[in-house]
Amino acid sequence: MQAVLVELITPSMALFFSACFFLLWWKSGLGRYVLAFAGAYLFSAIGFLIAISLAPDSSITFQASQIAYSIAAVCMIWGVCDRVKQPPFLKVLAIIYLVAAAMLIAEVLLTRDAGPRLIISNTGYGIMLLVGVISLLSSPRRNLADNLVIAILAINAADFLVRPTVTILIEGQIDVAAYHESVYFSLINLVLSIKAVATATVLFGACLSDYLTRLKESALHDDLTGLKSRAAFEDEARAMMKRGQDGARSVAMVIADIDHFKQVNDIWGHQAGDTAIINFGDLLEGTIRGCDVSARIGGEEFCLVVWNCGLDDAAGLAERIRLAFAQMEHRGVGPDIRLTASFGVAEMHKGESYESLFARADAALYQAKEEGRNQVISDLRGERERSDSARRATVIERHVA
Ligand code: GH3
Ligand code: MG
Ligand code: MG
Repeated sequence: MQAVLVELITPSMALFFSACFFLLWWKSGLGRYVLAFAGAYLFSAIGFLIAISLAPDSSITFQASQIAYSIAAVCMIWGVCDRVKQPPFLKVLAIIYLVAAAMLIAEVLLTRDAGPRLIISNTGYGIMLLVGVISLLSSPRRNLADNLVIAILAINAADFLVRPTVTILIEGQIDVAAYHESVYFSLINLVLSIKAVATATVLFGACLSDYLTRLKESALHDDLTGLKSRAAFEDEARAMMKRGQDGARSVAMVIADIDHFKQVNDIWGHQAGDTAIINFGDLLEGTIRGCDVSARIGGEEFCLVVWNCGLDDAAGLAERIRLAFAQMEHRGVGPDIRLTASFGVAEMHKGESYESLFARADAALYQAKEEGRNQVISDLRGERERSDSARRATVIERHVA
């Protein structure tokens, strides 16, 4: 009875991990690879339950449990590869399985010694896992979680390749009928439990890391357009303004707002409105350079900071975007209908804060709306004030001199 309970520890743990990965996949919205991890633990539990519940000396028991373990190994390898978008080399895995299975069929017919069959099957799993390790090693993505996944897979592979041979060398022949009483069998219970816990911990850690990365990404990006969110934009705009101030480079800001957008929603529906917002975002991304930053800062409001660009050039950029948008068709909006947008542009002054530059570009946008929409207005008042204060500073300097 006690022995049976000990034997049940590993499959129970595997079933528990399988349920945890399944729940994680269901609730987190992470990819299918989490489901594959659930499958890997489920099939390893099934394999183990077959091995302990059916007659130990039956070749059917052995082959059935090997099929379940092989499916578990393939699920695991497919999952870890899919997680980092690497090929799982399924055909290679299938060939390894078929070669091992053919050797096992022959071996079961030839001898009652469990040793060779354990070495053949474990070597098969070891080589399968090595294929996974090789695929992961060629992935360009390598954070701490990715490295830990590679390490745990390599440790599992090494265990499969080395442990059976070493144990059997020490233990000598194991008659299949006495397999459950062998040192090998008690060792495998222990090793599998440790491996199951260690591997599950690393895989849960990797899933958690993926989940946090996704949360961070979605906080930094707007879901609809993929442009930066307002908070991320502000950080990048402030950094660009500081670089501009330090290196005496001009930085300009453009704020854009789609005209009469409420009517678009009212007449053609929210979906059509969303399409127009996406199109505007694509247009911005396709027009700016890599050194500029674009963001969706509100419902149908967008903002750009343009590097090394004066007021006139920024107004020219805004005008190109305005013209392109005014010619665009939007799915869901009537085919003859064209939408327009208004733009406010301002150039950063020396020592100016983000808030002040934004307020000036926003005031210019307000003026564009006031003056009939579908136009670009530059903040000339800010420029006049700047040249007035520069003139006053020169007069004071001359006076002091
Ligand atoms: P104006 O020309 O003065 O800018 O007028 P407007 O109608 O564009 O401006 P207003 O601010 O009155 O309306 C903006 C509308 O944008 C209201 C809101 O329902 C809509 N909106 C905000 N976010 C979204 C979104 O994500 N999708 C869609 N489809 N509509 C949105
Ligand atoms: Mg609007
Ligand atoms: Mg608006």
